[in-house]
Amino acid sequence: MATKKTQGTRTSHSRSSAASRTGPGAGKRITARDLKSFRRRLEDELTVLTGRYAGLEAASASSQETAGASYGEEASDAGSFTSERERDLSLVGNLRDLISKIRGALGRLDDGSYGSCEACGQPIEAERLDALPYTTLCLADARRRARAR
Ligand SMILES: [Zn+2]
Repeated sequence: MATKKTQGTRTSHSRSSAASRTGPGAGKRITARDLKSFRRRLEDELTVLTGRYAGLEAASASSQETAGASYGEEASDAGSFTSERERDLSLVGNLRDLISKIRGALGRLDDGSYGSCEACGQPIEAERLDALPYTTLCLADARRRARAR
């Protein structure tokens, strides 16, 4: 067992040359293989979200019916119910928003513009796409827009 040779320290030789090519600002460009995995992630996400969306819509539709049946024109006790429903609605709105973003991203995967910032045309940072596969803006432009709001 003690006859293990210790020569593992010399193998990290070819790493430095590869690292030196990616200077600051060059950014990690996404590859065709990344695109495939992004597509799969987006499609999976879309399936989950559309399922959740359909469930929420059904739930809010049925709660609307319940409200009509039990409360009628009485507005007195409907306050808490309304806020709950509004929360449902904003949740549905968020989901719808997200679903349309994901559909847009899948469309950009189809037409080849995926991964480019829609504001400046530069490639979006790979780490950013990894975190937000449906984003249309590079980090700098996303920050700019967030500030402008
Ligand atoms: Zn940009």
